[in-house]
Amino acid sequence: MTIYLKDCTYLNWDNLEMTRVNLAVAEGPRKGISFPTSVPRSENLGPQDRVLNCAGKLVTRSFGCGHHHIYSTLARGMPAPRKIPTNFPEILQYIWWHLDKRLDLEMIEASALASAIYCAKNGVTFVIDHHASPFAIKDSLPTIARAFDRVGIAHLLCYEISDRDGQGPREEGLTETDAYLGVGRQGHVGLHASFTVGDTVLEQAITLARKHNSGLHLHVAEDRADQEDSLAKYGKRVVARLKDSGALDLKKSILAHCIYLSDREKELIRQSGAWVVQNVESNQNNNVGVTGYATLTENVMLGTDGMHCDMLRSAKAAFLSGQTTEGLDFDGIYRRFRNVHRYIQAFGAEGDADNNLVILDYDAPTEVTTNNFPAHFVFGLDARHVETVICQGKIIVEDRCVTQVDEGEVLAFGREMGKKLWEKL
Ligand SMILES: [Zn+2]
Repeated sequence: MTIYLKDCTYLNWDNLEMTRVNLAVAEGPRKGISFPTSVPRSENLGPQDRVLNCAGKLVTRSFGCGHHHIYSTLARGMPAPRKIPTNFPEILQYIWWHLDKRLDLEMIEASALASAIYCAKNGVTFVIDHHASPFAIKDSLPTIARAFDRVGIAHLLCYEISDRDGQGPREEGLTETDAYLGVGRQGHVGLHASFTVGDTVLEQAITLARKHNSGLHLHVAEDRADQEDSLAKYGKRVVARLKDSGALDLKKSILAHCIYLSDREKELIRQSGAWVVQNVESNQNNNVGVTGYATLTENVMLGTDGMHCDMLRSAKAAFLSGQTTEGLDFDGIYRRFRNVHRYIQAFGAEGDADNNLVILDYDAPTEVTTNNFPAHFVFGLDARHVETVICQGKIIVEDRCVTQVDEGEVLAFGREMGKKLWEKL
């Protein structure tokens, strides 16, 4: 199947070159695009081929999310916690750990489907997720994968293994990860964070990541409490602990947050080539503080940390926060927004080739050029401009509607599952 995008303005995501062309988009996880001089006449089209008239539309690479938690989807509007948290460990204890322990596979499916729809409609076609459901671990990763596959979103999944709920969930987390990666699915070995992960499970996770040629995906120094715990228990800071364990030798590892780091820790991360994910809205929401990343490493991606599924919104938040923390400029935030593609390529994962595209109905009041595009990106471009989305050469959103699932049915299922979850809180 080929999709022809007729007479579009194609924006190369990497060098921002803009050309008025016809695009032919091939279907498949590693397929690409070509630039035919003309679009075939209707009698010469294959039965599955499509032609979309894109005159006046901007077409560019679709977006990716570097750190997401689909498990939090059903939290929206939930009853207030029994105790109002006053710090980050209490936010985990009274909100997120209270919620994730009550998830079952049906709720996980509803969470993943709804989240995948929101991602698709926001132009996000690749999601790196970090999942937790301590009492519904078995089959949680295939359940999420099936939901994402149904909507048409590519992914790198993991389960956040930890010691926080004892031996049972810890062992199940390791088993689930081994089983998921063992059948050839692409993903990470997830860990929650240093302060919930003892030395034994850390070592087991690293062994598992080596076995499957993957990396770890964990939260690092999101709050000062993570560093205080590591110093108290192990006599060293979090990143030094990761370095000594061999975790930083895994080139595919993702370290989310990285807010409270010493200069030495920054140097260790820089030398390792590990990737860091900035989630500034979540950090502001949890009141853990924010930081600049310019002095840490070039390898910084953006994530939502489960707060929403709109990467253009995350980029704007990171840009605004970056004004005080690091003097981030337009080019800098655009590069960070697009780093997810560089990470996925370095990982060797499928599903983020050139045939992942968004068609934007961008109603700019001023001229858009290669030079000023990053400013349009920061101040103009919004999710509302995302009209049609193509993932791996397949149309998954057309005229702002998802094409692969019934959105109304999915959201009704979500509301039903949300009710079931809230009754257990
Ligand atoms: Zn997170």
